[in-house]
Amino acid sequence: MSALLRPRSFHWRPILRHRRFATVTDNHRAFDVVVIGGGHAGAEACAAAARAGARTALVTPKLDNLGTCSCNPSFGGIGKGTIIREIDALDGLAGRIIDKAGVQFHLLNRRKGPAVWGPRAQIDRDLYKKYMRSELESYPNLSIVLESVSDIVLSESKGSTEGSKGAIAGVRLENGEILQTGRVVITTGTFLGGEIHIGLEAYPAGRIGEAATTGLSKSLRDAGFQLGRLKTGTPPRLDKSSINFDILQRQFGDDPPAPFSYLNTEVAVRDQLTCSITFTNDASHKIVQDNLDKSIHIRETVKGPRYCPSLESKVIRFADKERHIVWLEPEGFDNPIIYPNGLSMTIPAEAQEQVLRSIRGLEEVKMLQPGYGVEYDYVDPRGLKSTLETKAIDGLYLAGQINGTTGYEEAAGQGIIAGMNAGRSALGLPGASLSRSDGYIGIMIDDLITKGVTEPYRMFTSRSEFRMAARADNADLRLTEKGREWGVVSDHRWSVFSDEKQQILDLTKSLGAVSLAPDEWMQAGFQVKRSSQRRTGIDMLRLSNTGERVQLDQLSSVVPEILNYPPRIRERVVIEAAYAPYIKMQAAERGQFVNDENIRLPLDLDYDGIPGLALSEKEVLRRTRPETLAQARRAEGVTPSGCIRLLAYIRRQGSSSTGAATLLGSERSPLEAQLP
Ligand code: FAD
Repeated sequence: MSALLRPRSFHWRPILRHRRFATVTDNHRAFDVVVIGGGHAGAEACAAAARAGARTALVTPKLDNLGTCSCNPSFGGIGKGTIIREIDALDGLAGRIIDKAGVQFHLLNRRKGPAVWGPRAQIDRDLYKKYMRSELESYPNLSIVLESVSDIVLSESKGSTEGSKGAIAGVRLENGEILQTGRVVITTGTFLGGEIHIGLEAYPAGRIGEAATTGLSKSLRDAGFQLGRLKTGTPPRLDKSSINFDILQRQFGDDPPAPFSYLNTEVAVRDQLTCSITFTNDASHKIVQDNLDKSIHIRETVKGPRYCPSLESKVIRFADKERHIVWLEPEGFDNPIIYPNGLSMTIPAEAQEQVLRSIRGLEEVKMLQPGYGVEYDYVDPRGLKSTLETKAIDGLYLAGQINGTTGYEEAAGQGIIAGMNAGRSALGLPGASLSRSDGYIGIMIDDLITKGVTEPYRMFTSRSEFRMAARADNADLRLTEKGREWGVVSDHRWSVFSDEKQQILDLTKSLGAVSLAPDEWMQAGFQVKRSSQRRTGIDMLRLSNTGERVQLDQLSSVVPEILNYPPRIRERVVIEAAYAPYIKMQAAERGQFVNDENIRLPLDLDYDGIPGLALSEKEVLRRTRPETLAQARRAEGVTPSGCIRLLAYIRRQGSSSTGAATLLGSERSPLEAQLP
């Protein structure tokens, strides 16, 4: 029996004080990390913790529910697709499973630049769950415990890190068993205090047919976390055989479809499924308007996803719009269900059916399940560190919709960071986090922990100040080396990545090595200005003075080795060449940004004692407890002059004999330059 199974100094204390104290017996199973919930955040979290080398347990009620898509049968899109590629670059699961379960692949914004490309895929719901389950069931270092967690258990001793008030000692299952662990990742999605709404009906549930989780909400509240309420909704589901597709516009997948995972050169599907497009109309809107008073979900006291609004919200907010688009998406290869994307509704079921039948192509439609809304508790993410560990309780991590986000991609992106850090912490390794300049996962986590949320948080490319550098095509170049250093990238992934990177470097070098004068380029058949300077092969790829860019293959007459490289490497070299000048310009800003990130603030800093800070700034800083000066700068309500006062204070503290309050970065930050 391992030493962990025989704790000497732990006294078990469930957070809920009115519950019976648990006692430690030899029957308690012990794990380095326990992940609660097998949705999108939970799947990535448990796999990342296991890859990091921690003995991990995933606690979830049903095997069948692993990787369930509560709403749309699709992944990716603009911004979101980049998150999936970042997860893949860190050796996560989602990208590979989408490639196996996809029914249609489409690159959004293809006509615009790669900085805003959005890879997207429709998936077969059941296949996605099947492959997720088989992946997790055979994952090294991972055990799946089929149960619900009723509570987390704290150790008697206080937490040891600055600012924390307690430490995790285990989780209690509904059957009474306690799993002993020092690190817990909660990823319970919409299940905390979940309540389903259809029309005027409301009942507790996490999603349709699944019980809500109530104990954990109370435990978190009792432990001092700030909880709020958010809401989301899903459309009705339709019987495919009752839809008249013949009169509707079709939407096809890309040919060839591009895989999500850097490990794949192709996807599994041979014959992609088609989607169809239809529209709502005045009659549909009138039925919605007539039934607005019959839905409790539409009240505005609780916020829903602004960028994925229900039909009710669209009718209210865009009253002058004559129609709204509806995509009819198949739920799978052999699945008789159609998902009408754009028709999320919570008015009574009979009214939903009337709305559907008012729409072209759906005149005879059979509604298999009505749309519904769900309202749930979320935890204010400003209580989290950039590792997604809570500041209040050592060893407690939160990831996914529980942090106020919406979407599978956002959940999975947090899951991989929380799981990796829980795993690393169990092995005694320091926390690892992504900064805003690393990519979209870093941006999302930074936004959450510095600004909190007032409505469900969704990723957009506009949230990034480093769009030119953080693209969907180059996530591996940005993140795989970091992931390898952090211990979550397998040997196989590392070898594939290293080989691909080397090929990109070699071809770039070959193109850069050819430098010709204008006459020489002209002799080789290229149009360049006679008066211009010498140009390399890379420069030629950026040349657009003729209105048309030079294609890489055209350059093979002067750089014959181009033809030795596969199309994917050639395409990547062209993109890198096009973006290099912009990335160089952004590099200076990035450098300044990194310097601010290096100035650490103690989590127990006494903000009330800082002279010159406004009361409102002290309040924000006390509540958010930023980890770095950069985070303080981004916190809502902290002014630039407040930041300068904060920096002056920590510098004085750092140089005083009473204690080193700060760890200054090696270079001066832009804020420091403004100090007297
Ligand atoms: P989930 O995927 O919800 O997974 C939570 C997991 O935790 C489940 O497996 C559950 O069984 C498990 N669990 C819960 N309590 C316990 C417990 N006590 N013990 C053990 N396990 C537990 N996103 C969009 O982007 N667009 C949309 O339009 C949209 N609409 C939605 C509509 C509905 C009705 C719902 C429910 C969700 C919708 N979402 C939408 C959100 C999307 O489903 C979530 O963002 C995403 O699934 C969150 O992932 P997660 O891992 O955080 O949680």
